[in-house]
Amino acid sequence: MNKTIFEKIIDKELPSKIIYEDDKCIAIEDIAPKAPIHILIIPKKPIRKLSEAKKNDGPLLGHLMIVVTKVAKQLNIQDAFNIVINNGEAAGQTVFHLHIHLLAGKNFSKLFQD
Ligand code: AMP
Repeated sequence: MNKTIFEKIIDKELPSKIIYEDDKCIAIEDIAPKAPIHILIIPKKPIRKLSEAKKNDGPLLGHLMIVVTKVAKQLNIQDAFNIVINNGEAAGQTVFHLHIHLLAGKNFSKLFQD
């Protein structure tokens, strides 16, 4: 199977601005930011989308959430950020390797008002 952009970034075959990395995931700056701070938290395991995660991926998914909080602290946005996961093409997913968008510096709360 062809590697996704994110697998190439994880394998350092493509450049990226790495904010955080450990043995399970990488956090990089989004190349086309939708907010003043826009980070992608990407597991190294290539899960195509959240809905394809298995029960035994639970600890990994939890780890990604903890990394969100670590990165938010690192960037000093721990009290004001939004996270988004686009799941499936119809929901706007364009890269089929699970990732969490961490967004800050823009108030997205209006999206959830009538
Ligand atoms: P999604 O639409 O949820 O699949 O999100 C994919 C995200 O990846 C988009 O916000 C893109 O701007 C971002 N993106 C695509 N290519 C790269 C890249 N080479 N480096 C960093 N971010 C990227």
